[in-house]
Amino acid sequence: MAEIVIKNVAKSFGSFKALHSVDMTISNQEFMVLLGASGCGKTTLLRIIAGLETPTQGEVWIGGRRVDHLPPRQRGIAMVFQNYAVFPHLTVFENIAFGLRMQKMDKAEVERRVTRTAELMHIEQLLKRYSGQLSGGQRQRVAVARALAMEPDVILMDEPLSNLDALLRLEMRAELKGVLADSKTTTIYVTHDQVEAMSLADRISVMNGGRIVQSDSPVEVYRNPAARFVGSFIGNPPMNFMEAKRTGTGRWRVGGIEIDGPQADRGTLEFAIRPEDVTRAEAGFAATARVVEPLGAHTLVTCEVGGKPFRAIIDSDDPIAPGDTMTLAPQPARVRWFDPETQTAIS
Ligand code: ATP
Repeated sequence: MAEIVIKNVAKSFGSFKALHSVDMTISNQEFMVLLGASGCGKTTLLRIIAGLETPTQGEVWIGGRRVDHLPPRQRGIAMVFQNYAVFPHLTVFENIAFGLRMQKMDKAEVERRVTRTAELMHIEQLLKRYSGQLSGGQRQRVAVARALAMEPDVILMDEPLSNLDALLRLEMRAELKGVLADSKTTTIYVTHDQVEAMSLADRISVMNGGRIVQSDSPVEVYRNPAARFVGSFIGNPPMNFMEAKRTGTGRWRVGGIEIDGPQADRGTLEFAIRPEDVTRAEAGFAATARVVEPLGAHTLVTCEVGGKPFRAIIDSDDPIAPGDTMTLAPQPARVRWFDPETQTAIS
């Protein structure tokens, strides 16, 4: 059992606050992804959990044991970092066996574990090769295999696929997901790649400016962003945002039309809709297409609505050219509303 509990953890570097009071619980065997833009504090939080960085305040608990004063090797975790520290002068076998030998595990068990994890990562044919002779992608697999061979309760990964080309990355993503789903490991995985986050996570914690802004399932984070930042960060392209003016109880004027919305007693709110959640209809936003980008199954159209850019994803069979006008109706169930001051969602 390895539940991870982070209590009120903060980290300052001099006068710079890299993390502001983070509270988070990762359940036993959960796959948690920390997602956010460069510099938001993901790596710092992971390093604090690993014991490679000391928090300025707060506590870290793993499996019911307080660990923030313990060195990394006493925390019962395995790590895979971006610069995957595979020893070039050792064979693949010896690299994977490294941690097991440190534990003085008997030879037969080392052999069993190395073979098994190498098979899982599809590198069994490379076991006798020196790691210095491997491609980046192969070395990356060795690093992951080495961590898995430890059969850790907790595995921490920081952008472990970042150095792979797009195709290999896709392949490795699926492999990792399969392997970790079959293991009993609790995983924390850092990435700035939202597709990777969506694909792998049981739960995504979206970080911004040293804070966790939302911690939810991938679908929830995508469909129901709790903060404007989440809607603007997740989704490619991100949500469209427009100012909405109150015209009456629960009625709002947005993009030149009047629609139902929250009963909030506010003069203005921010209306948000994903590009794929608008449809061409009789009534809706009057839009003029400016840029048309065929994406295969769909077409991304950057339009103008009320003089502002607005993106719509439409069926690729739908003929559209720059300069065309169309009417775009937001799907009511998919509309989100944000408080312009707090930038948080109004439900
Ligand atoms: P990336 O995706 O680029 O790795 P990140 O979200 O992982 O970004 P962190 O590496 O956690 O970000 O860094 C958070 C902030 O803390 C950054 O602004 C960074 O410059 C700062 N920082 C990190 N380590 C140190 C350090 N040792 N000394 C001073 N500032 C640091």
